[in-house]
Amino acid sequence: MKLSSSSQIEELARFKTHPYQATSFYLNTDKSQQTLKAINAASKALINQAKKQLEEKNLSPEIKNSLQSDLEKISQFCQKKLSPLKSPGLAIFSCSGLNYWLDMELPHGPRNRIIMDFDFYTRPLTAVLERFKKMCVLLINRKEAKWYEVYLGEIKLIDSLESNVPKQVKKGGFEGYESKKIERHIEAHLLEHFKKSAEKTFELLKHNQFDWLLVGCDDEFYSQLESLFHSYVRERLKGRIKARIDTPESKILKECSEFEEQLKRAEEEELVGKFIDELERGGLAIAGLADTLRKINSFEAQALLITHNFSHPGRVCPKCHSVYLNEEICLLCQAKTEPVADIVDEAVEVAFTRGMPVYHTTPPTRLKRYGNIGAFLKYKITS
Ligand SMILES: [Zn+2]
Repeated sequence: MKLSSSSQIEELARFKTHPYQATSFYLNTDKSQQTLKAINAASKALINQAKKQLEEKNLSPEIKNSLQSDLEKISQFCQKKLSPLKSPGLAIFSCSGLNYWLDMELPHGPRNRIIMDFDFYTRPLTAVLERFKKMCVLLINRKEAKWYEVYLGEIKLIDSLESNVPKQVKKGGFEGYESKKIERHIEAHLLEHFKKSAEKTFELLKHNQFDWLLVGCDDEFYSQLESLFHSYVRERLKGRIKARIDTPESKILKECSEFEEQLKRAEEEELVGKFIDELERGGLAIAGLADTLRKINSFEAQALLITHNFSHPGRVCPKCHSVYLNEEICLLCQAKTEPVADIVDEAVEVAFTRGMPVYHTTPPTRLKRYGNIGAFLKYKITS
């Protein structure tokens, strides 16, 4: 199935796996960014690492068997399904003890990971949903209007209307008074058509809780149409697109995805720019993995900035959850730290539990020059 709504996530989060445990598997399968071979290798590495972890865990045989069986099934699924898979992300939720299995195609590549725990781990799904805007597309000409919903890489027609507007008069065909009267008559019909369309747009936007409205129509109609929009509609009006009333759905979808991606990129670029400015003037920012982890441990980090899917091995304190690049002994509580495959992932987890925002930027990004990770800080660096 495909990820399409937050209710799917809520359902997963509510699922009780007691007396067993649950396996949650996330894989970036974006073939525009990596080869199939690399994706296969990443999935194998994740599963092998999870198998090793499981062997070391002190669990009852029932729970262990269920988890082992999860890993086996996930491994088989990947061997068969990764090659034909078209979506940029895959998530699998399994609890073999209860015979539960759910595989989900994601519209955006998540961070690679396997989590074995008491519940299903759904936070990455929420992060994927938050990335996407729910868009309403209005395509309109002088007698027809169509409304589409574009969300999570899918498009569907949600409404349409056709008005009885008389054909335009050919210039020079009519003279004087008669001609003006007919023109006024047509204009009144046209205005009525735009009014109805603007009202319908308001209703649809409110009813379906769209984030954005995109409009595709000829220049000559646009300003009149815009002036008829309710302020609620105007607040959500994000721009104009090239698509027209007869554009095929696949083309509309492509244009909207590009529009969304461009805006997202511009936002990211602006944030990275702000971060670099702050850094270079010695302000409230820090860059590089080791320093960023240090500032997370000392509660000075306020927001994290990470290149999408940047990962690095590191160490975690099992007692106080401090995160380190190399420290074998925790600097805060002196416990012996444990190695983890991806310390960036652990840092993201710490950020989530503290309600700290985490911003991902899509490569190529200027953040790479600064070690692919950084943080905005709360206090001025003193040391
Ligand atoms: Zn510690």
